[in-house]
Amino acid sequence: MSPPLFPLLDARQLSRRSFLAGSTSFAAAALLSTRARGTVAATPKFSAYPFSLGIASGDPLPDGVVLWTRLAPKPLEAGGGMPPEPIEVSWQIAEDEAMSRIVQAGTAVADPSWAHSVHVEVSGLRPERWYWYRFKVGTELSPTGRTRTAPQADALPARLRFAFASCQHYETGLFTAYDHLAREDLDLVVHLGDYIYEGAANDQRVRRHNSPEILQLDDYRARYALYKSDPSLQRAHAIAPWIVTWDDHEVANNYAGDIPDKPSTKPAFLLRRAAAYQAYFEHMPLRRSAQPHGPDMLLYRSLNYGRLAQFHVLDTRQYRTDQPQGDGVKPPHAVLMDPRGTALGDPQRDWLFTGLTRSPATWNVLAQQIMFARVDRTRGPAIGYSMDQWPGYEFERRRLLRHFADKKIKNPVVLTGDIHSNWANELIADFDQLDSRRVGTEFVGTSISSSGDGTETPKNNGELLAKNPFVKFHNTERGYVRCELTPQRWRTDYRTVPFVTKPGAPLNTRASFVIESGRPILQRV
Ligand code: FE
Ligand code: CA
Repeated sequence: MSPPLFPLLDARQLSRRSFLAGSTSFAAAALLSTRARGTVAATPKFSAYPFSLGIASGDPLPDGVVLWTRLAPKPLEAGGGMPPEPIEVSWQIAEDEAMSRIVQAGTAVADPSWAHSVHVEVSGLRPERWYWYRFKVGTELSPTGRTRTAPQADALPARLRFAFASCQHYETGLFTAYDHLAREDLDLVVHLGDYIYEGAANDQRVRRHNSPEILQLDDYRARYALYKSDPSLQRAHAIAPWIVTWDDHEVANNYAGDIPDKPSTKPAFLLRRAAAYQAYFEHMPLRRSAQPHGPDMLLYRSLNYGRLAQFHVLDTRQYRTDQPQGDGVKPPHAVLMDPRGTALGDPQRDWLFTGLTRSPATWNVLAQQIMFARVDRTRGPAIGYSMDQWPGYEFERRRLLRHFADKKIKNPVVLTGDIHSNWANELIADFDQLDSRRVGTEFVGTSISSSGDGTETPKNNGELLAKNPFVKFHNTERGYVRCELTPQRWRTDYRTVPFVTKPGAPLNTRASFVIESGRPILQRV
């Protein structure tokens, strides 16, 4: 599948052209660009509001961000209710919420081959600033979103506040947690995957998926459209830039590289993966560098927040070898120490090791999917680890822990999603020596809605914490995790909602932890 036309224009060029014309108005920018391109419809008529999926921004740099939207007047219909032709969309970015001090404007083409999505890479902005942005197509104006640029590479900002979230099964719960998240004071939001779920509609749940299990590009697009129609999710996207990565359900449950969970041939699964990756790209505020080519999409990347934090965003699905002992919780077998087993693949691991070694940041954040600590979740004297998580890739997991220790990586903090539960874990150099040195920390964030209403204290918590003394907190309510970083300390608050099967859940802070820089010990506060 070779992408025919990428709907991204050079934002700098376009904005320079509009500035030269002496105007940053939508009309001027649209007119100039239409003349230049000739074939693009600039004044379409829509059957309904075309910005039904909201707006988003992402991957902040010191001088710019990605602005995203997708035109879909009939979001659940094939093609989103759009004519099969390219449409010109104008954008503006301003220093104020009223959009009166516009600093840049331009146009982009929403192309049908990319589901009429728009990804604008704005550059030339000032570092560490709030900006507001919106789109216009024909006479229709999008909602206004707020975004923020990162600090300059050599700056040491006084603080960074962000939240991370994952696992938002539409059917099993309402996205109430996002309403609370949208009221937080956050510089950015990190999403760790399971943004959609691929399964068939089920009548027995709180809400209903729009189709049978999704397999084709149009199915994936309509599923994203269903999820992105949720107003709470839209509000959360509108308050700050997002840094996103995927987990398994953006394609299929527990897939590993080119190997699906359910029986399928490799060529058939790679076609499905290509469709899934394309739809993911179409719906996320990602840069051109992430544009997929068939079943391949470069999603791992790093983002700096000055010298305060570096986010190493990982992809533990696309390149992994098959779960060596299959799925589920299994007692460990010698095969787990086979050096060929990998969750990252060689190029990504080399990139990560180099990035960690060279990082100038106080906090090295690994934004990824699967639990890193080797947690024994079996009852009684038996031992068992989840084979879909890092303990199923034990050889590589130990390499990474050794890298943290040997290279004296500054404050490695692993952020995790996937398992619909909250955990605070100390990462020890050797999980067979429970008193061995602490070399990092891990915060596992619960789901937004997946698994439905949770419980504050799971029944077997006592035994679990006794078997795994490096686990300092475990809870299975829904919610998200808020983090505040300064050059001296990291604070994590587990923000939870007691229910998601009916509206109006209040927000609680169920536990808070602090880490001092240079001392990877979880202090409950
Ligand atoms: Fe999930
Ligand atoms: Ca998952």
